[in-house]
Amino acid sequence: MSYTKLVLKFARRYPVWILSTIVLGFSGALFNGVSTTLIVPILLNFLGQKVDLKGAPPLIHAIMSPFDGIPEQYRLSAMAVTVLLTIVLKNVATYASTLVSSALGRTLTSDLREEGLRLLLEVDLDFYSKMKVGDLINRLGGEVSRTAGTIGVTIRIVIIAITVLVFAAVLVAISWQLTIASTFLLTLVALVNQYSINRSKLFGKMLSDMSKAYSIRVLETLSGIRLVKATANEEREYQSLHKLIRDREQADFQSQMNSAAIGPISEVTGIIALMAIVIMGRVFFSQELESISAVLLTYLLVLFRLLPFIAQLNGARSQLANTSASVEIVDDFLRRDNKPFMGKGSEHYTQLREGIHFKDLSFGYPNHANLVLKDIDLYLPRGTTLALVGGSGAGKSTLADLLPRFYDPKSGSIAIDGIDLREFDLKSIRRAMGIVSQDTFLFNDTVRNNIAYARPDATEEEIITAAKRANAYEFIEKLPLGLDTLIGDRGVLLSGGQRQRLAISRALLQDPDILILDEATSALDTVSERLVQKAIDDLSRDRTTLVIAHRLSTVQNAHQIAVLEQGRVVETGTHEELLDKGGYYARLYSMQFAERPDVVFNRNQELRNRLSYEVRSRLNTMIGSLRLLTDDLVDTPEEQDELLEESYSSAISLLNTIELFENSSNLPTK
Ligand code: ADP
Repeated sequence: MSYTKLVLKFARRYPVWILSTIVLGFSGALFNGVSTTLIVPILLNFLGQKVDLKGAPPLIHAIMSPFDGIPEQYRLSAMAVTVLLTIVLKNVATYASTLVSSALGRTLTSDLREEGLRLLLEVDLDFYSKMKVGDLINRLGGEVSRTAGTIGVTIRIVIIAITVLVFAAVLVAISWQLTIASTFLLTLVALVNQYSINRSKLFGKMLSDMSKAYSIRVLETLSGIRLVKATANEEREYQSLHKLIRDREQADFQSQMNSAAIGPISEVTGIIALMAIVIMGRVFFSQELESISAVLLTYLLVLFRLLPFIAQLNGARSQLANTSASVEIVDDFLRRDNKPFMGKGSEHYTQLREGIHFKDLSFGYPNHANLVLKDIDLYLPRGTTLALVGGSGAGKSTLADLLPRFYDPKSGSIAIDGIDLREFDLKSIRRAMGIVSQDTFLFNDTVRNNIAYARPDATEEEIITAAKRANAYEFIEKLPLGLDTLIGDRGVLLSGGQRQRLAISRALLQDPDILILDEATSALDTVSERLVQKAIDDLSRDRTTLVIAHRLSTVQNAHQIAVLEQGRVVETGTHEELLDKGGYYARLYSMQFAERPDVVFNRNQELRNRLSYEVRSRLNTMIGSLRLLTDDLVDTPEEQDELLEESYSSAISLLNTIELFENSSNLPTK
């Protein structure tokens, strides 16, 4: 099903290419047929034999008749030139059709990769929570090229099938009776051969099973040697192993007998079939004895040129069957109807004028029954900061993810200046938002390009100003090439605080209307924390900011604090108001400042999460590179070395990361 869909889709996209490949293939087959038919009469002529075609079949007459008009002394040369010409033409056509079909295969691979990549960039984030990156890279790489290969194989099958048909038509035209008889005989020969081949496969499997059983038994006996000796069972064990060894020897002998017989049997049966065809040919052409040798020889030549094509056809068919699983996988991967996509509004977002309203909002993750956020009602006026606090799993990150529409609420809405978020053009709204999260992501690129990611057109001066404001310029200046230093995999050599300050520079340069901050200063040492905090204060000043606060010391200046507990807002107010209230927030506050052991535990937990994130992303890079290598998707040895180098340095980074975390915390190592 998916296969037909793929072929049709491609046929509609490149009809001219496909048609020209097939026409070329067909011309090749015709030239092949004509040259094969001409060879025997020419050879006989050349050997001085008089070829009288009076009683020969019409096809041979049709091919030979153009030469009748040529004077006798030139006829042989004309025929020879024609054969040569048709052979050359046949090869030119075959060459051209091979080129076109391989170009088609390459184009399809690129088409499918681009389609997959576009889909991966457009699909909602939720899709990635279920998929492994290594798996996706594999689909985009190996599976796609195998799938594209099926188009090449399909075209080959069509061309071979045309050739087989042309040859079969020539055979039938020479003698349909003989063709039926030889089809029958050759099928018989093929069946006999297939029987031996099947038997030899069976023996192969049996032998490997027996070897496995023998190895397992020896291993078992030797592992349990104490028991064997203690129970005086040496002889019994020996006898059972002895039987296994002799049985295997016997089976090996049978297998040898079978495989040694395959060659002779196929030769003898082949010769018998050939002799039978010759004898039958004599019978069928007995009325036209003068031309019999020429016609019969032509027949045999055509027949024997046909046989390899049939073998090729079978090979191509089994190749197609082998790739059918890949076609299914790619078809499923490229389907859009089974993946989540955001609806896109049309209103162009320009500027925040009044504020953001979370209205009676409830949310649960797709395919999860329980609600993660319930009846949230919060208002964030323009130019102010709203801090979300609460225990781990309370729903803070989820609420922050709804603002850039990584997900849409189940019920209720988020409105910007009274307009539902869903009515805005998705890109314009996301461009207006800056996100600084604890999972700072840096591309394998220069410091400059990492800062300017959201605004590639920024000037040098703007980049430097942003870096200075984020307290990042000082360390950037000390890097070997300053702003032009490649971060690469060595990004991990930048400390956590430095990475965060780069992310803050990025957000400062973007100068977003709305800022979403996932504060993560807890994994940093005190100096870094202070530097990052200063940068964050600068970034969020007078900006509409939604901040997830992990440490209450950092939110005291927020205009509003909302305390979340199990998806509900349980308290709102300023720091002082909430302390006066003496509720959940006041309890959290006194707990954090008392540094009770459970708080320390929580912080360790956070460090552990960060470590696992780092380790996972490094491993993903490694798996990606190794996948490309093992699937042979690399063209040059240089690229191969580069990928190996990348995997190697990912592994080193992994070690460094783990060491860094071990040193910077008292993370218990098990
Ligand atoms: P917080 O940021 O307050 O620690 P989160 O918003 O991360 O809390 O998580 C809230 C709840 O949603 C948790 O119970 C968490 O297990 C669940 N959750 C988070 N992400 C997903 C997801 N992608 N799919 C399903 N459940 C999720």
